[in-house]
Amino acid sequence: MLEIDDLHTGYGETQVIYGLNLRATAGRVLAILGRNGAGKTTTMKAIMGLLPATRGAIRIEGKDIAGERTFDIARRGIAYVPETRDIFPSLTVKENLQLATRLAPASAEWTMERVLDFFPNLSRRLSNGGNELSGGEQQMLSIARALLMNPRLLLLDEPTEGLAPIIVRQIHEKLSELKAAGMTMVLVEQNFGFATELADDVHVIGRGETVWKGSSADIIADKAVQKKWLGV
Ligand code: ATP
Repeated sequence: MLEIDDLHTGYGETQVIYGLNLRATAGRVLAILGRNGAGKTTTMKAIMGLLPATRGAIRIEGKDIAGERTFDIARRGIAYVPETRDIFPSLTVKENLQLATRLAPASAEWTMERVLDFFPNLSRRLSNGGNELSGGEQQMLSIARALLMNPRLLLLDEPTEGLAPIIVRQIHEKLSELKAAGMTMVLVEQNFGFATELADDVHVIGRGETVWKGSSADIIADKAVQKKWLGV
C-alpha cells in the first residue's frame, strides 16, 4: 500500500530523515516507534506532502506521490490525524465534521451517520464548540473527521498523547474495530504497549533512518532492541 524508499527530508537546512525505508501493507497496522525526536512526526509530514522529500520515493500502490500537494495526496485516500489534532476550536463538532464531508467521495462508505454511530460521544456533543471538548473527545473528532474522508490509508500520530488511561482504552477499542474492518493504518506512538497490541508490523526509527523492522511479537520479545532504540 505505502512504500518509502531512501527518504530524505527535514526543515529547511535541518535535515532530520536520511534514507528512511518503510513498508505498510494493505489491511495491516504498522507502528512506527522511536525515541523522542527520532523523526516519526517528520516522516508522517513528508508522507502528507507537508515537508518536501529532498530525495527518495514515497509510493502509494506503486504511484510516486513525492512532490505532490497535500490536498492531492489526501484526495488519493490518505487521511492524517496529526499529533496536534487540529480541530477548529471556534466551530462546533458538527461543523468540524461537515467540513470533512465536503471532501469525501460521492459514494462514501463512512457517512456522517455512520461516523456518529461509531463515536456516540460525539453525537451527544454536536452543537458544542471544538474548544469545549475534552482531550479524548478532540482526538475522537480528529479521527472521525479523517474517516469521513473515506481513506484507504489512515495515518495516526500519537493518538494517545496526554490522554487518561481510560480514554486510551477507548481509543484502542475504536482503532481495533477499524483494524477488524480492514482499515490500513500507520501509527506513530510513544506508548509501546498500545502500539504493539494494535500493530501487526513495527518499524523503529533511529538516527533518521529505519533501524529495525519486524512484527509486534518480535519486538515484544526483543528486549535488546527495546533498550537500544526505545529506552523501554
Ligand atoms: P516526538 O515524539 O518528540 O514528536 P518524533 O520522532 O516525532 O518525536 P519529530 O517531531 O519528527 O520527532 O522531530 C525530529 C527532529 O526534528 C527533532 O530533532 C526536532 O527537534 C526537529 N524538528 C521538529 N520540528 C521542527 C521544525 N519545525 N523546525 C526544525 N526542526 C524541527
